[in-house]
Amino acid sequence: MGLFDGTKFEQPVTCERCTKTHALCTCPRDSKGKVINPSQQQVRIQRESRGGKIITVIRGLGYRAADLTPLLKELKSTLATGGSVDGESIQLQGDHRDRLVALFKERGFPAKPAGG
Ligand SMILES: [Zn+2]
Repeated sequence: MGLFDGTKFEQPVTCERCTKTHALCTCPRDSKGKVINPSQQQVRIQRESRGGKIITVIRGLGYRAADLTPLLKELKSTLATGGSVDGESIQLQGDHRDRLVALFKERGFPAKPAGG
């Protein structure tokens, strides 16, 4: 019996989502180090205009910054466009709103289009 067994201080040896050990786990986490539960994220995907160009902004993923970067890389390659991480949001060049809503829904996020 460990000192903290059964208490809130007990740390699982493996990730609760992917069941890999923490050293191997690459699940996205929030700023507190907790694994993201897609169904609990209020993801909003919005078209915006920046300097006359249309961009698509993804908000509400809840990811910590270190996990937004690999997601941005993946989205840029999937959509064949440019983009950047801005604080807690991801910005992609061009209008990819509908495709991104579908893509995040496939992954279990209740993603919704926002704005016009
Ligand atoms: Zn994991």
